[in-house]
Amino acid sequence: MPQYNSNTSISYLKGVGPSRADLLKKELGIRTFGDLINFFPHRYIDRTQFFKINQLEQNSAEIQIVGKITSIKTVQQKRGSRLVAIFSDETGMIELVWFRGAKWIKDTIKVNVPYVIFGKTNYFNRSFSMPHPEMELVSEYKKNLRTVMQPVYPSTELLTNKGVSNRVIQKMMMSLFAEFDGKFGEALSEDIMKAQSFISKSEALFNIHFPKSHELLSKAQARLKFEELFYIQLQLIRKKMIRKSKIKGHPFKKVGNYFNSFYKNNLPFELTNAQKRVLKEIRKDVGSNAQMNRLLQGDVGSGKTIVALLAMLIALDNGFQAAIMAPTEILATQHYNSILELVEGLNINVRLLTGSVKVKERRVIHEELENGSLHILIGTHALIEDKVKFKNLGIAVIDEQHRFGVEQRSKLWQKNELPPHILVMTATPIPRTLAMSVYGDLDISVIDELPPGRKEIATAHRYDKNRLSVFKFMRDEIEKGRQVYVVYPLIQESQKMDYKDLMDGYESITREFSMPKYQVSIVHGKMKPADKEYEMNRFLKRETQIMVATTVIEVGVNIPNASVMVIESAERFGLSQLHQLRGRVGRGADQSYCILMTSFKLSADAKIRLQTMVDTTDGFEIADVDLKLRGPGNLMGKQQSGVLNLKIADITKDVAILSKARVVAFETLQEDPSLEKEGNLPIRKTYLGIQKNSAIWSNIS
Ligand code: ADP
Ligand code: MG
Repeated sequence: MPQYNSNTSISYLKGVGPSRADLLKKELGIRTFGDLINFFPHRYIDRTQFFKINQLEQNSAEIQIVGKITSIKTVQQKRGSRLVAIFSDETGMIELVWFRGAKWIKDTIKVNVPYVIFGKTNYFNRSFSMPHPEMELVSEYKKNLRTVMQPVYPSTELLTNKGVSNRVIQKMMMSLFAEFDGKFGEALSEDIMKAQSFISKSEALFNIHFPKSHELLSKAQARLKFEELFYIQLQLIRKKMIRKSKIKGHPFKKVGNYFNSFYKNNLPFELTNAQKRVLKEIRKDVGSNAQMNRLLQGDVGSGKTIVALLAMLIALDNGFQAAIMAPTEILATQHYNSILELVEGLNINVRLLTGSVKVKERRVIHEELENGSLHILIGTHALIEDKVKFKNLGIAVIDEQHRFGVEQRSKLWQKNELPPHILVMTATPIPRTLAMSVYGDLDISVIDELPPGRKEIATAHRYDKNRLSVFKFMRDEIEKGRQVYVVYPLIQESQKMDYKDLMDGYESITREFSMPKYQVSIVHGKMKPADKEYEMNRFLKRETQIMVATTVIEVGVNIPNASVMVIESAERFGLSQLHQLRGRVGRGADQSYCILMTSFKLSADAKIRLQTMVDTTDGFEIADVDLKLRGPGNLMGKQQSGVLNLKIADITKDVAILSKARVVAFETLQEDPSLEKEGNLPIRKTYLGIQKNSAIWSNIS
C-alpha cells in the first residue's frame, strides 16, 4: 500500500478515478487528500428527528419519516413516464415520485418493508409528495454509524449532473477518514490547545464533517476557524518582523530647518490631535534603521496631505528627496498647487511630472532629479517611468492606494539601493478587522478626527419625481454663492447608456440653469485630460456654478466652495463610492448637502445603502455596513480579494476569534521568532507547509 499523505493526488482515493479527480479539481479546486479534508460542509441536516406523516407542514424543510411502501406504479406522461409509490406510516400516506431512474428503482425497491426516507416534501392538491427521496432500509439504517447531522457540501451543477452527489462526497470523505485511520497531524502547539481548551485536530476534522453532537460541532468550528486565522496572522506578523529586522531603510536622524521653519512660519492651522499622533508614529518609523511601510487611513477631508508633507520635510532635512504619486492628473496638479503654496518662502524646489508635461520641461526635471536639486516631485504614473531617476529618494507617498497596483509601487523600490520609506494614504475606510487580515504586515495609522469647525453634511434621499424641488434647492444654494456637483454613474466605453444618461442630464440641467445667468461644466472619462483640466479649472475659479460629472471626480478633488452634491441613480453606486463622492463637499465652512436621487424600484441592498448614507457620515461605520453587504473581496478590490480565500472563518462574523488569533500569533512569534522550540514543532511544520503551498504573499504589499 502506498504511503498516503495530504499531498497525495485525490485520484488515488477509493471511489475517485482520474475522470472524477479531474472534475473535482475543475469544479471545486480539490486536487489532493489535504484539499478534500479541508473541504468543509456549508450546512448540516439534522437527522435525529423523525416526522409522522400527519405532522407534515406545507413548508417543511428536508425531513425523514419511517414507513413502508404499500404500492408502486408507473404513470405515463406526455414526455416519458414517472414512477409513483405510496408510502405510509400509522398516521397517513404520501406519494414518492421519481422522474429519472425509474427502472432501477422499481427493480431494487422492496414493498411492505420498513424504510427510512429522507427528502423535501411538496404540497399539491391537498396532499404531500416527496420527489427523489433518499431511502434506506430501517435494518441498514440501524447498522450504519449514525452521526447527528449530515453534512451538505457546496456543489455545482456539473458535479450533480455527473453523479457526484452530496452522498458521493460524503462517501469519499468517509474513505478518506478510513485511509488515515481518523488521525491527522496536530497543527497547533500543546500550549495553545490547553490555553484555548481546543479539541484535537483529528477530533475537529471528524466533527466538522460528521458531527457527533451539536456541542462537538461548535467546538470543531471554533478550533478550525481559529487555526485558519492564526496561520494568516502568523504569516503576516512574521513577514513584518522580517521586514523590520532585515530590510534597512534610510534613517532620518534629525528634524531640521525645513520642518521647523515650516511648522513655525507656514503651517496654516493647528494640527488635530490625530494628525499629531500619526506624525509621531511616522517619525518613529523613519528615525529607526528599518524601512517604513505604513498605511495612513483617514476619511476624506481628515487632512492627510499636511501629514504627508511634514513627513517629506523630514526627508529633506536629512538630505533626501521626496515624491508623491497620485492616481490622476487632476489630483496630482491639486497636490502640486497646494504644496507649492504651503512651502512658499522655504526655498524648496517642487515640481510636477505628469503625462502632459512637455519634453523640454521633462528634461529639466530629469536633470534636477539626478543632481539632487529637485526636492519634492509630485506626479502621476509618469513618476515610475524608467527615465525617472532620483539621486536619493528618501520617502515616497502614494495617495489613494486603491488606484495603484502593487507592482507599480514596487517600481519605486528598485530605483535606489536602499528602498525609500513608503507612506500609502487611503480614504477608503477599511474596517479594523479587515485591515488586520489584509494589511497585517503593514503598520497602520489612522486619522480618526476631522479638523475643527466642519459641519456634518446633511444627506437626503429623493425620488426622480421630486426633481423640480431638487432643482429649486440647487438654485437657492447657487443664489447664496455656492457651487453644485451633479454626478452620474461611471462611464465605460462600452456602456452607451451611461453616456446617454449623462448627456441627457447635462442637457436638462443646461435648460433649467440656462446661460448667461448660469454656467455649467461637464467632466467625464471620455474627455481628453487637457479638456477635463480646463473644465475643472473653470469650476475651481467659480466661473461655472454647476459641475456635471462622472465618478472621475471621486478621488481627492478639493473645492471648498462646492457644497451641494447631487448623485444621480444613486442606487447604482456602492456604499464606499457614495461615501467618497459625498466627501467632495463639506470641505468649507458652510453647511453642505448631499442628495441621493433614485427611481422607485430599489433592491433590498440598495435601500440599506441609501439609508446608511442618510443615517451616518462616519466612514468606518459605512465601511462596516459595506463589508456586511458585499463581503471582503469586493471591498478591497480585485488585488486583495484573493488573499482572503477563507475556508471556514468569516471575518465579518468571527471578529472575536480573529482578534484572539492575532494576539496568540503575536505572542508565539515574540517568544520564538523562528519557531524553533520543541513545543512549536507542529506550528513550524504547518507554517512551512502553508508557505510552500499557498501564495498568500503574492498579493499583498
Ligand atoms: P484628505 O485627507 O482628504 O486628503 P486634505 O489633506 O485634502 O484631506 O485636507 C482637507 C482640507 O482640510 C484641506 O483644505 C486642508 O487644508 C484642511 N486641513 C487639514 N488639516 C487641518 C487642520 N488641522 N485644521 C484645519 N484645516 C485642516
Ligand atoms: Mg487627499
